[in-house]
Amino acid sequence: MHDDSRPRPRIVSPGTASTPASPGQPPSDATVLFDGKDLANWEQRRRGETLPPVWKVENGYMEVVPGTGGHITKQRFGDVQLHIEWATPAQPSGNSQARGNSGVLIMGLYEVQILDSYDNISYADGQAGAIYGQFPPLVNAARKPGEWQTYDIIFEAPRFDGDELARPAFATVLHNGVLLHHHRELLGPMRHRRVSEYVPHEPELGLLLQGHGNPVRYRKIWARRLDLHHS
Ligand code: MG
Repeated sequence: MHDDSRPRPRIVSPGTASTPASPGQPPSDATVLFDGKDLANWEQRRRGETLPPVWKVENGYMEVVPGTGGHITKQRFGDVQLHIEWATPAQPSGNSQARGNSGVLIMGLYEVQILDSYDNISYADGQAGAIYGQFPPLVNAARKPGEWQTYDIIFEAPRFDGDELARPAFATVLHNGVLLHHHRELLGPMRHRRVSEYVPHEPELGLLLQGHGNPVRYRKIWARRLDLHHS
């Protein structure tokens, strides 16, 4: 205790908060995945193919183009801290899962749902902030359509020992600063209408934003690499 020779934590400049009008600065050791200017860090994934990115970039945000595939980062991550800002269309259309649907698929596999969940009823494990198809968020912390919202996610990648799951994935999720999941053990990758199970994969994979037919916007996306288990 109080040993002066104990290594001190390295210094990280914490960045600045965003305002509704403009995104603030990421922490100094973050990998910036989208800075509001271009899609240089992104590729499109469409029916298993990797294609150039096509989502619209304007006014400091990117916007999903309906009918196109999800967009995935060239950079790959395992254990990671993520910050993502998003907004569903200001003029909502559609109901339930058809309103402002997108999603943050960590490692391209594990989805934290994005949906317009302000005055829009859908199934609990599919609303904004749900671990899609697995766990509803603890609360509904949605802002109104068109307003910028934040996700802060701590993700522990699963570990595999050959074909066996050695340690499942865990996720902690805050939505607009409100806790939705605390160290939630994931059942496996996102699946639609069936129970998930783990399938072994690489230790690091890209971060995918889902193209789900709604023009959801994104800005200020950054990641901090973590190594939580040194394995
Ligand atoms: Mg989705």
